[in-house]
Amino acid sequence: ALLLDGKTAIITGGASPRGIGRAIAQSYADQGARVAILDLDAETASRTATEIGAQHTGIACDVTDRNACEEAVSQVIAAWGWLDILVNNAGITQPLKSLDIAPDHYDAVLDVNLRGTLYMSQAAVPHMTQGGAIVNMSSVSAQRGGGIFGGPHYSAAKAGILGLTKAMAREFAPQGIRINAICPGFIATDITAGKLTDEMKADILRGIPMGRAGTAVDVAGCAVFLGSDLSAYCTGTEIDVNGGSLI
Ligand code: NAD
Repeated sequence: ALLLDGKTAIITGGASPRGIGRAIAQSYADQGARVAILDLDAETASRTATEIGAQHTGIACDVTDRNACEEAVSQVIAAWGWLDILVNNAGITQPLKSLDIAPDHYDAVLDVNLRGTLYMSQAAVPHMTQGGAIVNMSSVSAQRGGGIFGGPHYSAAKAGILGLTKAMAREFAPQGIRINAICPGFIATDITAGKLTDEMKADILRGIPMGRAGTAVDVAGCAVFLGSDLSAYCTGTEIDVNGGSLI
């Protein structure tokens, strides 16, 4: 049987062509879920949804806008009647050092990654009346700081997501809503592509025992596990998908 047969799922930031969210949407669709892709641009979100299969939908939603989050979830409920899984994947990075972070930088990065995760969860939870699963996208940057892509404010936002994951997991466990996080390591997507010299890349790969970058599909496998009943007794936890980077 398919792992997500008959489930409905929302994936935020799911329209980036080489992105993690899109790979999750595809894997969810392959496992029998109906998927709503939320992203900034309506046309891109709709096209992506169509590309992964006929019964899916794309909705424009800026996750930093609380009304937009509620509106998007309402649209899904109106169309499908219920919601089983929310994947809070939308995120942005800024390669800044601490002393260069201006208030606007801080707001942008904290808003999309952390505030967006809270707002979408607030909108989704009341509809998960038969239980449900929320999968939050954190990062190895939360666990060991930095890296060259996200700044310290990104590390802080992703660490904040781990705190939010645990607090909300505790709060909603009695209602059968499981809330977990994924901490990807170095994954080859648009966030990481084209911004690296060969030397930088070799340096990163030396820190990864498995000796390769991860793929969006590597992360998607973990998201399928956390969204499905295979992880029925997992809540408030985080799973590293990093090729052994923290060993
Ligand atoms: P990506 O840039 O390819 O995709 C991110 C998507 O989020 C884009 O489609 C973008 O339009 C969307 N988005 C941005 N702001 C939004 C907003 N306000 N509302 C709705 N959607 C918005 O990035 P990716 O590499 O696929 O990363 C996906 C997630 O994984 C992010 O949360 C990122 O921080 C996290 N992550 C990535 C890596 C990596 O190495 N690529 C590592 C660890 C964690």
